[in-house]
Amino acid sequence: METMVYNGETLPVLADLDVLVVGGGFPGICAALAAARAGAKCMLVERYAVLGGQAAEIDTWGIDGFVNAEGKLLIDGLPWEILHRALAEGQSDPLWTRLDMALMEKEGIPAALHAAQLDEYVPYCNTGTFMNPFNDQYVNPNAYRYVAHSMLMEADVQVLMETPVIDVIMDDCQIKGIIVQAFFRRFALLARRTVDATQNGALSAMAGHPFQHPRAYMGTLTRVANVDVLKLIAFIRANDEDWFLRPMKGKKADPDEMIRLVEGGNPLAIHGFMKSLEFAIGKHPTYASLKRNNGDPLFFFYERDSIGSYWTFGDAFADVDTSDPLLYSQAVVAARKQQWLMHKFFRDYIPGFEHAHLMDVYSNISKAYMQSMEPSGLTEYDITEAEIRTGRTEQPDVVTIIRGHPNAGQNQDGWAIPLRALIPKGLDHLVLTGKPACRMIHYIASCAKVGEAAGVVAAVSALDATPLRETSVAKVIEVLKRRK
Ligand SMILES: Cc1cc2nc3c(=O)[nH]c(=O)nc-3n(C[C@H](O)[C@H](O)[C@H](O)COP(=O)(O)OP(=O)(O)OC[C@H]3O[C@@H](n4cnc5c(N)ncnc54)[C@H](O)[C@@H]3O)c2cc1C
Repeated sequence: METMVYNGETLPVLADLDVLVVGGGFPGICAALAAARAGAKCMLVERYAVLGGQAAEIDTWGIDGFVNAEGKLLIDGLPWEILHRALAEGQSDPLWTRLDMALMEKEGIPAALHAAQLDEYVPYCNTGTFMNPFNDQYVNPNAYRYVAHSMLMEADVQVLMETPVIDVIMDDCQIKGIIVQAFFRRFALLARRTVDATQNGALSAMAGHPFQHPRAYMGTLTRVANVDVLKLIAFIRANDEDWFLRPMKGKKADPDEMIRLVEGGNPLAIHGFMKSLEFAIGKHPTYASLKRNNGDPLFFFYERDSIGSYWTFGDAFADVDTSDPLLYSQAVVAARKQQWLMHKFFRDYIPGFEHAHLMDVYSNISKAYMQSMEPSGLTEYDITEAEIRTGRTEQPDVVTIIRGHPNAGQNQDGWAIPLRALIPKGLDHLVLTGKPACRMIHYIASCAKVGEAAGVVAAVSALDATPLRETSVAKVIEVLKRRK
C-alpha cells in the first residue's frame, strides 16, 4: 500500500478515488450511488457499523415528503427508487402501496385516499399537523439498510464501516482527501472530489469552516417487542381519556376501528396515556420527566407483529447546543435515561406491555437542526428566505428542487437548490449536503435528493476535471434525468 506523510506521520493510503462520500445516511447513500452510476470510482465512509443514518431510526418517512400539496411526485430519482426497493422487501406500512400514485398524480390526494377507502386520513400538507399517515409511514429500517447495501454493491461502491473521518487532507484551500481512524491505526483516503453528507458539515468544520446553526431538537424511537396490542386496545376501551389515533385528524380513537386497522396490518399511532402517567408519578416522582412542558401526550407507535416504538422526546433535549460537547453529552445522557424510563413506565403501568422487551437502541440519537431563516454564510450562495417561501429563484445554476415543509413557511411545490449552495466558501473540491448547505431542509426525502445531486456534481466535476464552481449544470441535470 502506498503511503503519505500527514502532519509528520506516515500513513497508508487506503484508496485513491474520483469521489469520496462521507456519511452513510440517506443523502450519503444517494450521493455515492449517483456518483458511481455517473461513472466515478467511489467509496462511502460511515463512522458507525450501521448504514442508513436517521432515516433508519425515525419513523418519519411519509408520502408528503415526496409529493407536493396536489399529490404530484416531486422527489423522484434515487430516493424514490430506494424507497420502492425497500417496500418490495415487505414489512413496511401497507399504506405506501395501497395508495394509487398514478391516480394521485392525475386527480390529487383526496381522490387517491377515496379510492383506498381512506377518506378520513388527512394529508399533512393540508392540516399542518403531524397527526396523519402522510407524514409518518413506517419503512422497515432493516429492509432499507439491506437494499442500500445491495444497491451500493451493484454499483461497485465500497463502503467503509465503523471508520470515523477525523480530519481532512488539505493543500492550500483544496480538500485532497480524508483521514479515517480505523481500529488500530489511521489511514489516508485520497479523492478528486469529496461529498460531506455528515448532516452537520463536519468536513467543512475540520477545514476550519463550521456549520453556524448548532441548536437542535432530539428525539428517539426506541423499539419494543412482544406487545399485546389487543390487550392495549381493550385498556383504551375501558379507560376514558383523551386518546387520539393519529391517522384520523380530530377524531377520538375508536377501539373497533383500531382492531380493524391492526387486523389489516396497519400501524397505529396512539397518543394518550396521561392518566396512567399521573398515577405513576404519584408513586414514583422520577416519571415526571416524561411529561412535556407543552402538555403533549405520550406516544406509542404500534408497527405490526407485536412490535412498536415509543417516541422518546423530552424537554431536557428539545433545544440543545450541539456545538458544545459537554452540553450535547448531557442531553444525550438525558435522552438515554428517558428511553429506559419510558419503557419501565409502559411495562409497569400499561396493560399489553407486561412482557414487552426494549430492543437495541441506535448508536446515534437523531437530531434535527432548528430550522433557521438566518443565512449561515457557509456556502458560496445563501438561499434566501423569499426563495424558500415562494419557490421562485433567479439563480442560473439550479441543480435540484426540494420539497418544502408546510409548518415552516416553505413552498410546498418545492424550492430550488443552486450549485453554489452546495460549495463551501473558501474551500475547493468539497461538496456539501444537508442543512449546512440548504438551510431550511428538513424532509428525509429532500435530504436524500440533495445528496443525489451532490454526488452527480462531484462525479461530473471529477471526471471532466473541471473546477467544482465551473461544473456544467446542464450536464448535471442531464445525468440526473438519465436515471429516472
Ligand atoms: C425528532 C426528529 C423529527 C423529525 N421529523 C421528520 C419528519 O417529520 N419528516 C421528515 O422527513 N424528516 C424528519 N426528520 C429529519 C430527518 O430525520 C433528518 O433531517 C434526515 O434524516 C437527516 O439526514 P442526514 O443524512 O443529513 O443525516 P444522518 O441521517 O444523520 O446521516 C449522517 C451520517 O453521517 C455519519 N457521520 C457523521 N459524522 C461522520 C464522520 N465524522 N465520519 C463518518 N461518518 C460520519 C453519521 O453516522 C450518519 O450515518 C426528523 C428528525 C428528528 C431528529
